[in-house]
Amino acid sequence: MEKILIIDDSRLHASQLKAILEDEYDVTLAHTAEDGLCYAGTGTFSLVLLDVVMPGMDGFTLLKKLQEQVITQSVPVILVTSLSDIEDEQHGLVLGAVDYITKPFHPLIVKARVNTHIKLYNYRKQVEHQSRTDQLTGIANRRQHDEYSTVKWDEAVRLQVPFSICMFDIDHFKAFNDTYGHPAGDKVIINVARTISSYLQRSTDFVARYGGEEFVAFLMGDSSERAFRYLQKIRQAIEDLHISHAPSVAEWVTISIGGVTLVPQPGDSYDFYLKIADTMLYDAKNFGRNRVVWADERMKQLREK
Ligand code: GH3
Ligand code: MG
Ligand code: MG
Repeated sequence: MEKILIIDDSRLHASQLKAILEDEYDVTLAHTAEDGLCYAGTGTFSLVLLDVVMPGMDGFTLLKKLQEQVITQSVPVILVTSLSDIEDEQHGLVLGAVDYITKPFHPLIVKARVNTHIKLYNYRKQVEHQSRTDQLTGIANRRQHDEYSTVKWDEAVRLQVPFSICMFDIDHFKAFNDTYGHPAGDKVIINVARTISSYLQRSTDFVARYGGEEFVAFLMGDSSERAFRYLQKIRQAIEDLHISHAPSVAEWVTISIGGVTLVPQPGDSYDFYLKIADTMLYDAKNFGRNRVVWADERMKQLREK
């Protein structure tokens, strides 16, 4: 059941609204704006019904706060009030409320509006999700990488934890396509994406399809030695899939990996180190492919084989 939060200092009005909606929704009640803000901060609600006139913090002020917090800013808020003044209605809508219901409420109107806004919210979430997902593999796409990497990089700077960036590229993939065709190549990309992601499942891990047959990932908290050894396992896992390669180039499909680990300092740029990971990948290709080349904090290389 989708969750709705009702914030209203009047227990009568709050329970009336709850009675109207509880057949279809999981309803939570808060009787002060402060409690409402706490509940909303859990990020689990699909809609907020918010009373405007409340003692202490009023609905308009709370609405502003909800709009400022990343976790609550996209959740639709319907203002509920006995104020029938057109100016208040306008004020609420300008502040970002999606709709306005005046007391006394008509159950059918409340239900209809709530249903509409929940539908719109879910549709928007779905579109946003799609815009961050790679269609072929279902993992994150480059756009999601570009946004999320900045957030996590800043976090690593703040917490002073090691951050590893790595680039993956399928070896001699053009030859694979030329031999078996593009649709078979697509299946390989899907398989490689699945295998890499299955190894990067910690909440601090992230992997995305960066381009055609290239992937990018970052890990937090591991030393360069540890990250290097872990990425060797991933490289081995791809080889162990035993996907027959074009006979002219290799027995199995393999990947090359380049990476770098450092504790980022204020002013360090993620993109600069992403380029270093790419340089390590380039070296991995030059040293013979199907290998991992890593740079540690002092840019000293760790090389496989
Ligand atoms: P290297 O080992 O140096 O990486 O050789 P390569 O042949 O993999 O390198 P190159 O970058 O020249 O070729 C990449 C190939 O990947 C070209 C293209 O045919 C293929 N490719 C890129 N995107 C897709 C895709 O979405 N599906 C399929 N099937 N092939 C793709
Ligand atoms: Mg490539
Ligand atoms: Mg390639």
